[in-house]
Amino acid sequence: MVHRIYNFNPGPATLPLPVLEKAREELPVYRGTGMSIMEISHRSKEFTEVITSAEASFLELAGLKDDYQVLFLQGGASLQFMMIPYNFLPPGKTADYIVTGSFAEKALQEASRLGETHTAGSTKSTRHSSIPLRKELSFSPDPAYVHLTTNNTIYGTQWKYIPDCGSAPLLADMSSDILSRQIDLSKFSLFYAGAQKNLGPAGVTVVVLRKSLLKKIPNNICNILSYKIHADSGSLYNTPSCFSIYILKLVMEWLKAQGGIKTVEALNEAKAAKIYEAIDRSENFFQGHARKEDRSTMNITFRLSDEKLEKKFVEEAAREGMTGLKGHRSVGGIRASIYNAMPLEGCETLAHFMENFCLKNKS
Ligand SMILES: *Cc1c(COP(=O)(O)O)cnc(C)c1O
Repeated sequence: MVHRIYNFNPGPATLPLPVLEKAREELPVYRGTGMSIMEISHRSKEFTEVITSAEASFLELAGLKDDYQVLFLQGGASLQFMMIPYNFLPPGKTADYIVTGSFAEKALQEASRLGETHTAGSTKSTRHSSIPLRKELSFSPDPAYVHLTTNNTIYGTQWKYIPDCGSAPLLADMSSDILSRQIDLSKFSLFYAGAQKNLGPAGVTVVVLRKSLLKKIPNNICNILSYKIHADSGSLYNTPSCFSIYILKLVMEWLKAQGGIKTVEALNEAKAAKIYEAIDRSENFFQGHARKEDRSTMNITFRLSDEKLEKKFVEEAAREGMTGLKGHRSVGGIRASIYNAMPLEGCETLAHFMENFCLKNKS
């Protein structure tokens, strides 16, 4: 076995080793078919089993029943920025967006091209270092829906409460914290995630929506962009990203074997605590970007006193087997992405490295 390093990349991101090993084992010949999963029909019995099992496991882990529909689409979370208003923002209505980071901003921009929008909250003035307080949100009178981003991948902030937006459907981009913690997902009418952070490889986007919402979709929109068409055909309207769905299914099985989301959440909190403690104990040698109450358990962002030192940090960490720590260009500094598949030892190793680096470089 070749040596694997600790991969803190924001996405595509680290995957569980047992999943990769299982995929390797089944790669040339998938279960007596004489072919790999990449070569068989998406309408075959074998692939039908894969996709049905992936949907069922997802709903089970999410704690949702079959009044929700799981879709496996393509185009990334970014296509959802457009598909949501295309399906759910009719003329004469307004869609509310809460802008807590770059992806939230992009979602708003796409919706604004297709209809009326209202910014119900924004943290731009704090450089997205926080999540709005309940009292800082102001919704429009009767929004078509309210959209938020549960975890801000670039800035390292995460919603710790679910806002009450009355009878308006609540929609969320959960790309970077889906299935990482126990939250009441039934409060959301629709949520979505590009798989490459917490669910599997790039190439598939999971969209989960209340079946009752499908009735609101106009019949005269383009098929490939209609949730209804995808739901009616069980995500097989066109050829889906078969291999990515297969790996996602293995990730769902791995999550269940971990003990489900309750166990995973506890571990994620312990992992994040290791690194935040290293930040807080450093007496401002490391400066966290996110307001403490809003700190993400998935993406941890911090700065050092100057860019030269940050560069040194990233280089030395790489030499010690930790990669992907350079922050996003819009925030700078360091970002450690520690999704479900990052083991506790990875976070301990990073925290330990941080403490030593601080000792050696503190003036
Ligand atoms: C990564 C990310 C996206 C973009 O996803 P793509 O699949 O590349 O389109 C959108 N939103 C959030 C919160 C993300 O973390």
